[in-house]
Amino acid sequence: MLTLTNRKKVVSDKPMTLMEKIYLPAIVGGMFITFKHLLRRGQTVKYPEQLRPFAPVYRGMHVLKRDEQGRENCTACGLCAVACPAEAITMIAAERKKDEKHLYREEKYAAVYEINMLRCIFCGLCEEACPKEAIFLTDRIVPTEFGRGEFIYGKDQLVEPLDNRIDISKRQDSGKRTK
Ligand code: SF4
Ligand code: SF4
Repeated sequence: MLTLTNRKKVVSDKPMTLMEKIYLPAIVGGMFITFKHLLRRGQTVKYPEQLRPFAPVYRGMHVLKRDEQGRENCTACGLCAVACPAEAITMIAAERKKDEKHLYREEKYAAVYEINMLRCIFCGLCEEACPKEAIFLTDRIVPTEFGRGEFIYGKDQLVEPLDNRIDISKRQDSGKRTK
């Protein structure tokens, strides 16, 4: 018969030898493998004291970006919510007032913007859909919580703080987004 790989094993039902029947060599062999691994360097990362380096395209917690003048980029067009396969995004749009031009870049903005992090599958489609370079996924991890309600992230957690801008250049440099 034609074989496609050389991994095929012919199974035989020959009677077990005495050594095989007492299982001792197999047990010793198994213990040897266990001890061999005991002496090896551990692979465990002691998070959160130790952090593993993430790939530049890692998709973690979202950020709603501001422009160079500190105005929110999001115009509450809803395209991210439509693109989201998990229906994790909800928002309420509002009209920008005359004296709010320094707060919001576009005439319409998201008065409420929420992401349910328990629903989110971090696929990045919201980022792809956004025409305003407003939402990005970052290398930040969504922290663990005890209550489900705490995973509904509002603008207070999503919009980048003015005094602590979130760097997304690694993601842009990876070719994921154009600058
Ligand atoms: S990353 Fe995917 S699942 Fe999460 S909010 Fe964006 S589109 Fe929805
Ligand atoms: S984040 Fe982007 S796609 Fe989503 S509502 Fe704001 S501007 Fe539209």
